[in-house]
Amino acid sequence: MSAPNIDLPTPGPESPRAPRKPYRFATLCATVENPDMKDQYSASSVPIYQTATFKGVSGQYDYTRSGNPTRSHLEHHLAKMSSAEHAFAVSSGMAAMDVITRVLKPGDEVIAGDDLYGGTNRLLSFLKSHGGVIVHHVDTTNDESIIPYVKAGKTAMVMLESPTNPLLKIADLAKISALVKERAPEVIIVVDNTMMSPYLQKPLEHGADIVYDSATKYLSGHHDLMAGVITCNRDDLAKQMAFTINSVGNGLSPFDSFLLLRGTKTLAVRMDRQQSSAMAVATMLDRLGFTVHYPGLKNHPRREVHERIASGAGAVLSFETGDKALSERIVGATRLWGISVSFGCVNSLISMPCVMSHASIDAATRAERGLPEDLIRLCVGIEDTDDLLDDLEHALLEAGAITLEQGVDGHHYVRASLKREGHAISRAVEKLALSEPESRHKDEREWFVSAPGKVILFGEHAVVHGVTALAASVDLRCYGLTTPRKDNKISVHFTDLADYRHEWNIDELPWDAVTYTPPGTNHPDTLDPKLIEAISTQALPLSIHDSPTARNAALTFLYLYMTLAGDVRPAIHFSARGTLPVGAGLGSSASFSSCAASALLLVLKRVSVPPRPAPTVPPIGPEHPGHVHVSHQGRRALPSDVAEEINRWAFVAEKVLHGNPSGVDNCVSVFGGALAYTRPGFGKKSGMDPIHGFKSLRFLLVDTKVPRNTKALVAGVALKKQNEPEYVEGLLEAIQTISDEARRILADPDLPRREQLKGLESLINENHAHLRDLGVSHPALEAVKSKTASYNLQTKLTGAGGGGCAVTLVPDGFSEDQLKQLINELRADGFEPYLTSVGGSGVGVLSPHAASDEPHVTAYALPVTPPETPGVREDVAQASSLRSVFENAASNDFATWAEQRGRWLPNIKSGT
Ligand code: PLP
Repeated sequence: MSAPNIDLPTPGPESPRAPRKPYRFATLCATVENPDMKDQYSASSVPIYQTATFKGVSGQYDYTRSGNPTRSHLEHHLAKMSSAEHAFAVSSGMAAMDVITRVLKPGDEVIAGDDLYGGTNRLLSFLKSHGGVIVHHVDTTNDESIIPYVKAGKTAMVMLESPTNPLLKIADLAKISALVKERAPEVIIVVDNTMMSPYLQKPLEHGADIVYDSATKYLSGHHDLMAGVITCNRDDLAKQMAFTINSVGNGLSPFDSFLLLRGTKTLAVRMDRQQSSAMAVATMLDRLGFTVHYPGLKNHPRREVHERIASGAGAVLSFETGDKALSERIVGATRLWGISVSFGCVNSLISMPCVMSHASIDAATRAERGLPEDLIRLCVGIEDTDDLLDDLEHALLEAGAITLEQGVDGHHYVRASLKREGHAISRAVEKLALSEPESRHKDEREWFVSAPGKVILFGEHAVVHGVTALAASVDLRCYGLTTPRKDNKISVHFTDLADYRHEWNIDELPWDAVTYTPPGTNHPDTLDPKLIEAISTQALPLSIHDSPTARNAALTFLYLYMTLAGDVRPAIHFSARGTLPVGAGLGSSASFSSCAASALLLVLKRVSVPPRPAPTVPPIGPEHPGHVHVSHQGRRALPSDVAEEINRWAFVAEKVLHGNPSGVDNCVSVFGGALAYTRPGFGKKSGMDPIHGFKSLRFLLVDTKVPRNTKALVAGVALKKQNEPEYVEGLLEAIQTISDEARRILADPDLPRREQLKGLESLINENHAHLRDLGVSHPALEAVKSKTASYNLQTKLTGAGGGGCAVTLVPDGFSEDQLKQLINELRADGFEPYLTSVGGSGVGVLSPHAASDEPHVTAYALPVTPPETPGVREDVAQASSLRSVFENAASNDFATWAEQRGRWLPNIKSGT
């Protein structure tokens, strides 16, 4: 689209005293005006012409591939903003480059920078291999380096980028253009201006023939669309490119044109804010002594060149920490800075190019190009500058990159020496490595872990509509065991899931599809569909013989293993089995997820248990405050940062299993105890709060064995709410009151136990009645309720209802004989009762330390895991391995067997 009238002069008659001036850039951005395309209704916002075709034969438009009014408006606007004669909007930045490079012919030579965007390199390589184009890569930060390659009649194009990403190297666009044109005037100079946008740099004014932007970045500004923009002043080139766009059909769609037009209106204000914050961030990092790459800093190489060509330093910067692991910890410790590739968005982003955007370039080439492995890239958004600085400072501190020191004029942050203590999790790993020589023989180690299921005590169903639910861990658990293998395979065995077994050659797993998540960084919120697809099709081809639950569990295990393993890839066997029923609404999948996550994190040394205690327990006193982790009947528990890390990965595993879990099951399974959960989105305070002081309670859990359809039950309640809003709202309010009251009772340390139990019993009855009124009970559940009532015990359904499980509170002092009798009667009625306690430990790890080192425990049933002697003989290792007993022990006393294996390190946040 051409924009013959690119000036939009100030109104009013021109006079010698007050000449009409073009508007400044911010005004141009905000003012979308095209005198040639007046809207028939004077719409203030350009409408979306969402149409493929146009009627008639003589109109300006006939077919959207060739032209569309929304796109025309956008292109006119972009031409105006770029002070260009022609502008084209296409479907991505790479599509823009594709359109541009189609002017090349076989045999043409291209000179390109050696530090270009990876996608640019990829397309150039393709042109080389498929289009007969010859490509020379040169260092464009040295103006003269191009000269030897410029050959009149041969060189067709020069491709430049300045500043480069992520090292912000500067090319003198004006000087290079002039040098090239002097020698070969026909050469087309192309500049990728994405890092600057037309606001900060207009290469057409410095000799470039074609400029393109990935409009996915600053021009759009919101990371909600992909687009590319091409601008140029030469009619001949514009004609060729218009031909290509019409021929291949990559012009921007009407809807994306509308979105991009909207984004461009705020380009100047966004960039002003982003740039000033970027300067503040760069200054802070520079002051702390890091090597910072940002053209706004005084000492940035060729800063004067940049200032001559551009009118700002932009909002991308990078810095080096001197230590890759430290950088990973910093990236993982930020909260406001999202870990993501790309830039130009209103939100601030942080990344490690060598691990993320540039990971496809091999390490040797990265090193050759001087791309430091520890480099952190920051793409600054529009958030409050102080919040961004605070968050980064906090991350630097947490990662151990800076420390707070006392100076003469108060406290200051200073850069820590590189031999500082690291992040708590890594510190724990380091400590373990130092204190336990045998831990280096990680292949000798078996890890035995366990995690509980959950019951919803109050508020099920109502929770979907914003009411608080209370959930607690249940003492029915999933157990996981990893055993090292001596070959290059990994395998799984799920005894309870139709005895499912599978093994894989590690090298044959689809590693190409995986994005490694280094320690200290978090898995993105959403799963990687590419990896799921690759595992499902390549490693787990569908078999009618496999139980879908087992196959899902295997998929989950592989997803976690591959995402966490990096280059370590140990050969292991993982067995899981449980004492809780699968699919009965008791959180079996969350407990499996917690086991898989904790076992893998331990095997891969991404978390560790506390080091072996000192042989004698020091007296507790002011000088000997005791051990920080002593919390569970005087025994050690898992450190909270380890539990947090397990929780994060268990949630990833839950997502693989369930798609979109709420996270309640997960938190209960990892942290144990009880918690109150309120869904976000109802205008109330949402989130998960541990109920501190929750005392363990005894429950009889009865599985009716009636299968349920949770989705249908939830939908049924929603329908009822729609049909009888007042009635259902009343029930929901009543359930909220029950939850509040139960929470108060459970957390009140002064309430006598008897009163607590009585209070809970009446709330159980009330809550069940409301659930029945919501239509989610079932005759089997009512049968359990009346049977238990005949023993004077109170029961409610738990979870989705419609079958599944019921919970019966067993008060202290209830006759054991009566309980036995009740259990027998329930069994005789075809139900499966489990006597259990709720509110106990979350994830547990069997202590790897020998019995004699544990001051609080006197006797163990052997064997202990792992074998304490490094380098044990194969047969000895086999004999001391837990695996065969683990897989073969009888189900009914598995929990007791597991309990007796040694000292379990529990995780208790809110429980006993
Ligand atoms: N040029 C640069 C400098 C980029 O950073 C990118 C994308 O990251 C592109 C071009 C490609 O743009 P797109 O992703 O919109 O195709």
